Amino acid sequence: MPLLPIAVSADDVREAANIIKAAAHRTPVLTSTQANALTGASLFFKCENYQRIGAFKFRGAYNAISHLTPEQKKNGVVAFSSGNHAQAMALAARELNVPVTIVMPHDAPAAKLAATRGYGAEVIIYNRQTEDREAIAADLAAKRGLSIIPPYNHPHVIAGQGTSALELFEEVGELDFLFVCTGGGGLLSGCAIAAKHMAPNCRIFGVEPEAGNDVQQSLRTGERVSIAVPNTIADGAQTQCVGELTFPIIRNFVEDILTVSDQQLCDQMRFFMERMKIVVEPTGCLAAAAAMSGAIDIRDARVGIIVSGGNVDAESYANFLKRGKNIL
Ligand SMILES: *Cc1c(COP(=O)(O)O)cnc(C)c1O
Repeated sequence: MPLLPIAVSADDVREAANIIKAAAHRTPVLTSTQANALTGASLFFKCENYQRIGAFKFRGAYNAISHLTPEQKKNGVVAFSSGNHAQAMALAARELNVPVTIVMPHDAPAAKLAATRGYGAEVIIYNRQTEDREAIAADLAAKRGLSIIPPYNHPHVIAGQGTSALELFEEVGELDFLFVCTGGGGLLSGCAIAAKHMAPNCRIFGVEPEAGNDVQQSLRTGERVSIAVPNTIADGAQTQCVGELTFPIIRNFVEDILTVSDQQLCDQMRFFMERMKIVVEPTGCLAAAAAMSGAIDIRDARVGIIVSGGNVDAESYANFLKRGKNIL
């Protein structure tokens, strides 16, 4: 495969690690005797469910806002998201004393709206059916001089997300495999850059929901493929198309994209709860479910797994656990 020009280097990830350490948690790496017995491998789970705001997105948001000029910081930032990127931007901006506006759909869960406002963000509501959130953000950016920070398609966001894998390698040393979930590919591309830098022979697999395999199709055809919004419980991976900046990085460094069903995600959530005592949201289960499914032969290998987040409301979580079967 030809090497493509890419927007982010391992040095950028190292720089991001230096910048975010003032504010981000260094998340724990957990192991599980039962997971190791099941797979015949040594699994290392990097637990971003313990990151601030409950997901890795704080890393990219904090790094991106930190890189703005003083003038840009004074004017403020804007993001459009109903999920973890919104919370991450709101908290990171507050920590850096930067005004922040978040564009959220009118039907976003009340708890998420309240949490975002609670961090001091100005929330602008739009109608998902009739309005275009990107146009609203662009309009705000033009009128108020705000800087738009997108959730994945941005070099400083990608570098920030890569610090998760960098920390994992720093803590456990060489790994033969790394499994990372993918939506727009910010986490996967950043982690792939860090992994290839720390362990050039590490085999990297992205994982997405079976119902929405746009990144798999893109990687296999060599062109970014767009799909309809996928129907899956993995709400952090419902993106319709991989990013312009993330795709070349994924093509360069990622061996393949695997897919996982919603049933497997429920099974994995139950495993995490029962065996490892951790609450992981559906999207956060993708990488582990793929690694533990047997789809790739990982016997006797050292395997890194990024657990991307743990934000799930209690009622949905209870239902997912009920659906989940014991995989041991
Ligand atoms: C955003 C998110 C993802 C997907 O990340 P990308 O950088 O868009 O690929 C995965 N898991 C969780 C918990 C997320 O919040």
